[in-house]
Amino acid sequence: MKKILIFVVLGFIVSACQNDQPKKEKPNETEKPTVEAPKFNAENAFKHIEKQLSFGPRVPGTKAHDSCATWLETQFRSFGAEVIVQKAALQGASKAYEIKNIIAVYNPAATKRVLLCAHWDSREMADQDSERKNEPIPGADDGGSGVGVLLEIARILNENKLKNLGVDIVLFDAEDQGLSDNGKRDSWCLGAQHWSKNPHVPNYKANFGILLDMVGARNAKFPKEGLSIKHASFYVERIWKTAWALGYSDFFVNTEENQIVDDHLYINEIRKIPTVDIIHLSPDSPTGFGAHWHTHKDNIDIIGKNTLLAVGQTVVQVLYEEDMPQQ
Ligand SMILES: [Zn+2]
Repeated sequence: MKKILIFVVLGFIVSACQNDQPKKEKPNETEKPTVEAPKFNAENAFKHIEKQLSFGPRVPGTKAHDSCATWLETQFRSFGAEVIVQKAALQGASKAYEIKNIIAVYNPAATKRVLLCAHWDSREMADQDSERKNEPIPGADDGGSGVGVLLEIARILNENKLKNLGVDIVLFDAEDQGLSDNGKRDSWCLGAQHWSKNPHVPNYKANFGILLDMVGARNAKFPKEGLSIKHASFYVERIWKTAWALGYSDFFVNTEENQIVDDHLYINEIRKIPTVDIIHLSPDSPTGFGAHWHTHKDNIDIIGKNTLLAVGQTVVQVLYEEDMPQQ
């Protein structure tokens, strides 16, 4: 991703005022989880990121993109999922992209469902870098991390069958090829826009969704993102409380931030599934994102296994609690 919906000038004013605000209540880490969920293995997630990077930048239309798509399909099948690949030719800011949304379905018959998603493409230009601006970025964090976490969750779902809950993992393509110019909002998130209008199952519904975007950087901070609060505040609170109960309040911070144009925008507005974006934001930086964002520094050295663990274990906990019959 992407772009801050409320412009940076306002973002600056908001952050400049933050020091005067009363300090937010410290997250409660004393409430322990009631369900024992399977263990998320951050080493596996890390290796999945390394593997994605080994193909080269996953820019739509390249051999690296093709090879990575095949690998992702194979991985999900090896983790027992029904796999659907949705193909389309979609118009971007200045050209068309042949995209593939890769969808892994668990418990297809279950009516109670959760949607998990991330984007798997990497940006074709390093426009935030000072050098080689026209070359693609590695996308270890931006693209790679969400996919790495979701592949490890797929392994867990295969080895620890859910009873009542169905899970759909959707890897969106062509999220990150957009332009930040005014009026170009819809040049981002092409795969998610297409899927939201043409889901893999007619009239597809899930109880809620979780989007993972830039969830791998060392010492990442995940404030509560504005659009998630607007459309899915109940689930924001639930996910953040779950993270705190697991001891991850250093990552899942108790602050609210601007709205971000990301895949969840279209899922919320078109598909009407309340969907939460877990995304690393740096409100004090000039871009609003981490310093490696859309630069060549978004490589494997950025990735911290503790961050992958905090995000992965939190999502796993939410899933296995959701699987429990309602009291
Ligand atoms: Zn991006």
